[in-house]
Formats: sequence, structure tokens, C-alpha cells
Amino acid sequence: LVHLAAVNKHFGPLHVLQNIDLDVARGEVVVVIGPSGSGKSTLCRAINRLETIDDGVIELDGKPLPAEGKALAKLRSDVGMVFQSFNLFAHKSILENVTLGPIKVRGLKKKQAETEAMALLERVGVATQASKMPAQLSGGQQQRVAIARALAMKPKVMLFDEPTSALDPEMVNEVLDVMVSLAKEGMTMIVVTHEMGFARKAADRVVFMADGQIVEQSDPESFFTNPQSERARDFLGKIL
Ligand code: ATP
Ligand code: MG
Repeated sequence: LVHLAAVNKHFGPLHVLQNIDLDVARGEVVVVIGPSGSGKSTLCRAINRLETIDDGVIELDGKPLPAEGKALAKLRSDVGMVFQSFNLFAHKSILENVTLGPIKVRGLKKKQAETEAMALLERVGVATQASKMPAQLSGGQQQRVAIARALAMKPKVMLFDEPTSALDPEMVNEVLDVMVSLAKEGMTMIVVTHEMGFARKAADRVVFMADGQIVEQSDPESFFTNPQSERARDFLGKIL
């Protein structure tokens, strides 16, 4: 479903993505971990084309990512993204946050968009907050709304970039639980996170990045119990 081959990206002299090859199959859940500055966010942003690449190929569903126009807007809805900061529209209600995209991009009637949005808000457990403004919700609730908003676009793949690292500890699990259930329902997901519990529960594969490279990848159990590279051992030693 998602295919990257020989992807390179520089920021000036900094080679942030170095010959990245990565394939994510439909329904697969890939957790990306690695030290700060290793290129994890840049990788996610490149798949959504929030970042251009210098060379190499990125394809979604066998087609190269579009560069502009309507096709780019479609890509952004096909690739749902949830960031560390919740990025809700502050001056729109929770319900409007979720209906806006479907009305604008999918061309839904308001009524239809609201019906779908309420079902999604129900699913992430914040339906009772629908008429509130984002600032009235806790961080964990806002992040679950952000997930519902991305799902409302009917994405082919969901990207999560450290979705719980800005949350108070007691709210981490309510967001992870939603992500685990999405994974179980067969959503294709690329998740940057240091939440090893999530990786163990939900990941089909762990990809370890360092210095712009994919250093190793394997199923979570092998990765955590028997990392192959010195850098992965060193990293796990610091976070576990
Ligand atoms: P973290 O765990 O801290 O989020 P990361 O693995 O997500 O790190 P990236 O954000 O992808 O890392 O950044 C990779 C490198 O590229 C870092 O050295 C960062 O400083 C640099 N970088 C990222 N965005 C830009 C930019 N827009 N301009 C210049 N350098 C950038
Ligand atoms: Mg990052």
C-alpha cells in the first residue's frame, strides 16, 4: 500500500533520510522508533507530502504522490495524520472539526457529515463533547478528536507522529486504546512512538531508525528481546 524506495532528503548539509526503503502492506501496523533527530517525523511528513524529497520514490497504492492541486488534497485525505500537538481548529466546535473536511473535500452534505462524525466521536469515546470547543477538552480527549477527524476522511493509511508524548501520563492510555482498536480493525498504520506497550500489543513490525537510516526492523518481540544492532541495544537501554 505504501512503498518507499531509495528515498533521500537533505536539509542543507544534513542528510535526514538516507536511502530509505520501506513497504507497508494493507492492514499492517508499523511502529517507527529511534533517537531524536533520526528522521522519523520527516519520514511521516514525506509520506503526506508535507515535505518534498530530493530523490527516490514514494507511492501510495502503486501511484507516485501527486505534487499539487486536487490530487494533493485527495492524498492528504487518503493519508490521515495525527501529530503530537492536537492541531484542532480552535475556533470550531468538536463536531465542526470533524465535519469540515468531509464537507469540503468529500463533498458530503452537512447532515450526512454530522451523522458520520457523531459515529466516529462515539467510537473514540467523546460523543458527549461534540458541541464543545477544543479548549474545553482534556489533551487526551482532543487527541481522540484529532483521530476521529482524520478517520472522517476515510484514509487508506493513518500516520501517527508521537501522538501521546504531549499528554499527561493518565491520558496516554485512553489514546493508545483507540489506536489499538483501530489496529485490530485492520487499519494500515505507521506510528512513531516510544510506547513499547503499544508496539508489543499492536505492531506487526518495528522499524528502528538512527541518523536518517533504517538500521533494523523485525517483529516487536524479537526487536525488544534481541535487537541486532549496537545502536538499537544502546537506544533500548536508554528508554526501557
Ligand atoms: P524527534 O524524536 O525529536 O521528533 P525525529 O526523528 O522526528 O526527531 P526529524 O524531526 O525528522 O527527527 O528531524 C531530523 C533532522 O532534520 C533533525 O536533525 C532536525 O533538526 C532536522 N530538521 C527537521 N526539519 C527541518 C527543517 N524544516 N529545516 C532544517 N532542518 C530540519
Ligand atoms: Mg519527530
